[in-house]
Amino acid sequence: MAPLADQIASRRTFAIISHPDAGKTTLTEKLLLYTGSIQTAGSVKGKSSSKHAVSDWMDIEKERGISVTSSVLQFTYDGCCVNILDTPGHQDFSEDTYRTLMAADAAVMVIDAAKGVEAQTKKLFKVCTLRHIPIFTFVNKLDREARDPFDLMEEIESVLGIGTYPMNWPIGCGQNFRGVFNRRARRVIAFEGDGHANATKKVAEIEAELGAPELGELIGEANHENLMDDIELLDGAGDELDYAAVSCGKLSPVFFGSALTNFGVEPFLKEFLRLAPSPLPYTDTLTGEQVDPQRDDFSGFVFKIQANMDKNHRDRIAFVRICSGKFERGMEAFHMQGGKKLKLATGTSLMADDRAIVDEAYAGDIVGLFDPGIFSIGDTVCTGKTHVQFPEIPTFAPEMFSRITQVNTLKRKQFVKGMEELAQEGAIQIFREPGFGMESVIVGVVGVLQLEVLEQRLKSEYGVEVRRTGLPYTDVRWIKTDPKTFEFSSLNVTRDTLKVEDMRGRRLLLFTSPWNVNWAVDKNPDIELSEVGNWE
Ligand code: GDP
Repeated sequence: MAPLADQIASRRTFAIISHPDAGKTTLTEKLLLYTGSIQTAGSVKGKSSSKHAVSDWMDIEKERGISVTSSVLQFTYDGCCVNILDTPGHQDFSEDTYRTLMAADAAVMVIDAAKGVEAQTKKLFKVCTLRHIPIFTFVNKLDREARDPFDLMEEIESVLGIGTYPMNWPIGCGQNFRGVFNRRARRVIAFEGDGHANATKKVAEIEAELGAPELGELIGEANHENLMDDIELLDGAGDELDYAAVSCGKLSPVFFGSALTNFGVEPFLKEFLRLAPSPLPYTDTLTGEQVDPQRDDFSGFVFKIQANMDKNHRDRIAFVRICSGKFERGMEAFHMQGGKKLKLATGTSLMADDRAIVDEAYAGDIVGLFDPGIFSIGDTVCTGKTHVQFPEIPTFAPEMFSRITQVNTLKRKQFVKGMEELAQEGAIQIFREPGFGMESVIVGVVGVLQLEVLEQRLKSEYGVEVRRTGLPYTDVRWIKTDPKTFEFSSLNVTRDTLKVEDMRGRRLLLFTSPWNVNWAVDKNPDIELSEVGNWE
């Protein structure tokens, strides 16, 4: 076994973000296919296949064949130990999607070449920028009609506010797609696929100078000329890839390819692993210092809690991102928020189809700890004489709101317990109108499935039936200004704006439109509003 330092240095932990249907699942499958981790495509997420994804353990997931909670895929390639954090993206989009990004050291943004930057990409991108992690772009579906690559880069820059640096450049698209030009190697990789799904055929690689006659034969004279013009333009811009800008998320290396036909996936993976960082340090809030991932003492934080892994038990799994040192099954660690030593008895990792027990893991890895109900999202565990504590995970603005009312008032106790426990676990956010009790609670989520899961879990775990009424709120802002300095009830807001408090007593406003948000900003110049709950 390699020493600690080498183990940690070999880790690459990242998440793939995209708008639904851009090709995230396909790209993930192809990455696994290349590394021999899975034999057949289609086993990452059972959307259209009968196989279920790794984390399909809840009934609701099985019924629909989608994965509600993100899973982690680990494989080795080119001397790197790669962790892909799967971020739920369709109807199963939830706050876990956002939280998972807090555990990643880099993100790969998949963009559909015909569609460009879409709504969900924008949201996920914004969350990535909170941590200033490097963001790589994979422009997908070049085997179909695509938008002009210069336009696409322009759009990424203007809409997302990040610089772009093309690592390769596409030659044609759709029927006329001939391959890509690798700017660093200065050579063309020609596309010979016939466009069939899951093509595993090795593509012809030809090393040819731009302008060489054989290149014209290979990709067509017209394509060759266009390519020369494009490359001249790109080279004319003159800048070398600025690593410093990449590593703080200001510049995105852009790759073009086609995940479905396997084109450009392996070269992308190689370059990505070369450029992506090994585990990044997290800040210790006790000292304000960065915690070196390479230090001997183990530390990590809970970024996700998954309940009900086994229907017969109430046990939960707390997913921990390891920030430093080495994890060993059964080790003792200090739980900062609980103020107690714990035995980290069960480590599980979600790999392929079995939930293998993990004996050892290193900074950058994710382990699932057995949780009898003691952990909350954001909690720190650590070993060693000097304790550390990682920052809270931000509370992200919900976008959908419902009023949840208990049907049988005799079950008040169970209702309150259920709502509070589920909110503590991070499955939902709950809000109270000052002066109102807990008989009816406002619930905020980022994805509609969270509400369905809530209803089902209240029924099966707490025996409580509820009524759900949709509310018209779309935007929320936390009030950052010190509550002692103003009267909550006297804020000047539109009539349909609701004043509420969250679980921790923080005050916030629920709005029915961005117009109303602007009104509140204009009319209350002394009040500071924030889209994120607790981001310092
Ligand atoms: P996700 O929602 O982002 O995970 O997207 P999927 O990977 O499920 O892909 C959505 C659809 O696009 C599927 O029908 C894929 O087969 C298709 N697709 C993905 N990548 C490509 C590609 O490179 N070319 C083409 N033509 N189709 C693709």
